[in-house]
Amino acid sequence: MVRAFLFDMDGVLFDSMPGHAFAWAKVMTEYGLPMKEVDAFENEGRTGIGTISIFTQRYWGRDATEEEAKELYRRKTIVFNEYMAARGGEAPEMAGAGEVLNKVRARGLMRVLVTGSAQQSLLTRLEKHYPGHFTPELMVTGDDVRYGKPNPEPYLMALKKAGISADEAIVVENAPLGVRAAVAAGIRTIAVNTGPLDPQLLLDEGASLLFPSMQALADNLDSILQL
Ligand code: CA
Repeated sequence: MVRAFLFDMDGVLFDSMPGHAFAWAKVMTEYGLPMKEVDAFENEGRTGIGTISIFTQRYWGRDATEEEAKELYRRKTIVFNEYMAARGGEAPEMAGAGEVLNKVRARGLMRVLVTGSAQQSLLTRLEKHYPGHFTPELMVTGDDVRYGKPNPEPYLMALKKAGISADEAIVVENAPLGVRAAVAAGIRTIAVNTGPLDPQLLLDEGASLLFPSMQALADNLDSILQL
């Protein structure tokens, strides 16, 4: 029996990935680490230092130091915020996400947030766009985890916080590495392909169901929950 839905944030609840991809590519390239926007989608879900280290390993032959990662991530956040400021201030809601959340709540199921993001304004933003759906007790953020996705750690932590077992949860993810983390935690995972990647990548990571958008998931949620 399903008791909770575990939601990833960027690319699921907010249409924020184009901004993140732009900022990652710009700042990493500035630091001599050539990164394309599509690379950001492929690495989506990792913590900041995790993403940075993929590229320092590739180009410098070593992990990023904590100081380097902090500085680069700080700069990336500035560029991301500038990108958003030029487009009305913040990332728009993902179309259909509110409807998914409302349907989940109407069935009395918990909503748990599981994100690699470590922005401090996270809860305020969630409350503004999706009021009453999330609480600090049922959130796992980039600040809570040691490894982050694609390690199952954040999803295992989410199960623990919700006090449920893996077979009582359903994950909603848009990124291949996010699907990998959820599947490794033993949780059935619905993939929504809201970005530019080949949808087969999400199925290859073990997603049980695949939808092209959050709206398509909203339209099919009742029949999924009846199964
Ligand atoms: Ca995501």
